[in-house]
Amino acid sequence: MLCSLLKWPYFLLSTRAFLVSSSDFVGFLRNFCEALVVLPEKMRVFSLENVIDEFEALTKDAGRLQRATLRKILEQNAEAEYLQNLGLGGRTDPESFKVCIPLVTHSDLEPYIQRILDGDTSPILTGKPITSISLSSGTTQGKPKYLAFNDELVHSTMQIYRTSFAFRNKEYPVGNGKALQFIYSSKQVKTKGGLIATTATTNVYRSEQFKRTMKDIQSQCCSPDEVIFGPDFQQSLYCHLLCGLIYSDDVQIISSTFAHSIVHAFRTFEQVWEELCTDIREGVLSSRITVPSIRAAVSKLLSPNPALADSIHSKCLRLSNWYGVIPELWPNAKYVYGIMTGSMEPYLKKLRHYAGSLPLMSADYGSSEGWIGANVNPSLPPESATFAVLPNIGYFEFIPLQNPEGQELEHSVSTIHYIEAEPVGLTEVEVGKEYEIVVTNFAGLYRYRLGDIVRIAGFHNATPELQFVCRRSLVLSINIDKNTEKDLQLAVEAAAKLLTEEKLEVVDFTSHVDTSTEPGHYVIFWELCSDATDEVLRSCCSCLDLSFLDAGYVGSRKVGVIGPLELRVVRKGTFQKILDHYLGLGAAVSQFKTPRCVGVSNSMVLQILCRNVTGYYFSTAYGT
Ligand code: AMP
Repeated sequence: MLCSLLKWPYFLLSTRAFLVSSSDFVGFLRNFCEALVVLPEKMRVFSLENVIDEFEALTKDAGRLQRATLRKILEQNAEAEYLQNLGLGGRTDPESFKVCIPLVTHSDLEPYIQRILDGDTSPILTGKPITSISLSSGTTQGKPKYLAFNDELVHSTMQIYRTSFAFRNKEYPVGNGKALQFIYSSKQVKTKGGLIATTATTNVYRSEQFKRTMKDIQSQCCSPDEVIFGPDFQQSLYCHLLCGLIYSDDVQIISSTFAHSIVHAFRTFEQVWEELCTDIREGVLSSRITVPSIRAAVSKLLSPNPALADSIHSKCLRLSNWYGVIPELWPNAKYVYGIMTGSMEPYLKKLRHYAGSLPLMSADYGSSEGWIGANVNPSLPPESATFAVLPNIGYFEFIPLQNPEGQELEHSVSTIHYIEAEPVGLTEVEVGKEYEIVVTNFAGLYRYRLGDIVRIAGFHNATPELQFVCRRSLVLSINIDKNTEKDLQLAVEAAAKLLTEEKLEVVDFTSHVDTSTEPGHYVIFWELCSDATDEVLRSCCSCLDLSFLDAGYVGSRKVGVIGPLELRVVRKGTFQKILDHYLGLGAAVSQFKTPRCVGVSNSMVLQILCRNVTGYYFSTAYGT
């Protein structure tokens, strides 16, 4: 009964049979949206047109849906000790919610999460006991954060995947085929209380709905599950490439969660392509693949194919410095897809190089805490990608942020100081303004500060389209200077221009604040694709110094309270060692983000960097 009732609006929407008066329509839309908040994923009938219609209906009624979503979250979790102790008393309206529940960060919730990890199954943060845990990548904060994971988060992930695919497919339709997806699971750890903790992406890949959704959105992975869930990342990567080549004519999409994994995969391809050709020619898997489950699964797909091997071989030889390798080897691929914004922007240049004429499309915006928005404007260049917030997947608030004018008021060592106003609701944000996002979700987070800064680029119906600006945490600060990850990225981009004439590029970079010297100074670590002359690197170093435009930095440099910036060049492969280090700690390649600042507390990574320095240069930009 419920099922047929819920299909009814789909019929109306998909056939566009709006034979109702406008007031009826408003009522209808209200009921429809209400139904969408409670409609289980598996009851939905998949069609791209339906997905777009659903998205349009949701976003037109964003304000009311936000209230309905908050009500649903608070009703489901009314028993939670956290909400009870804060005196919410079963109320579900936004006003009471804001009065009773404080804004929090992850550290405020740690004691509650710890009890869940230790096996306390009483309703602590959620009504129903938490049975799975996600580990955030931990690359932005230094250590992974433990977060609750449940079916609602899987549902919203699928909703986001489908929504952005439906819009993408309107402009860049893919045929039936496969996707070369560089996706990897991570280690699972058991908490003291017996819960399984793994990265959010692994939790998603393991869910039943993932496979179904990948089929729906024509993105079925070329590689068997044994490759995705293999215990050795390098072996999985090799096999992803191999399976992609075996199915080279079928591949329609090249993708990964974050763009870094695609660039990393093709850098590896440059090293192993001949071995891959040999495997295909002889139909025998390389001896480097030693994990029995991966060997067995991939061997089944291999049979001697000298014609394919020869064709790959000659195409690779014809390429100039691997420019356009993706369309050359995967002639039916329509685009390259993955998160390309924020900390992924530095990889765009290399990605464009590998992608040649193929369009790059930036994927959606989310976190281990839950998804936020879908990219429904796929033709925008990745640098300007926007994310339309889905109003039924969480309750979102936005803290308006304003740069302090004139005198600095206060200085915090870890975050950028802004003048903060009271949080506003999803539909109350203003175009052009910047905000920090606050999330309330179905998995026990209430008014949780995500730590991301976004700018409002516009609206899609009544829901805002966000642009990712940066993480709120500062990466570089010594005195009154404040530089974010974005400032560092811009400085590196500016200085790296001096390398292009030498046909050199920065493979990866990070930074460190060195206060062991008096005065303290910024250290930037660069890995280059090959050697550069001292002269060029000296100019790059001074250019980096001059490219930090923050008034606090410039002033401090001029009066000498911050010393000359230091550029340290590290050996090739150093950033691979850093990645390996994080993988050893249980991080997933699928969620990996190079830490853009390494503090003294991150001693292992700092050691890897310092031990691999091959040259260092000091800026002469400010005369000292
Ligand atoms: P994690 O949960 O640790 O894998 O990382 C989530 C974080 O990744 C978010 O809070 C953002 O800072 C960043 N992130 C996720 N999606 C995007 C995106 N589309 N653009 C820029 N940054 C993103």
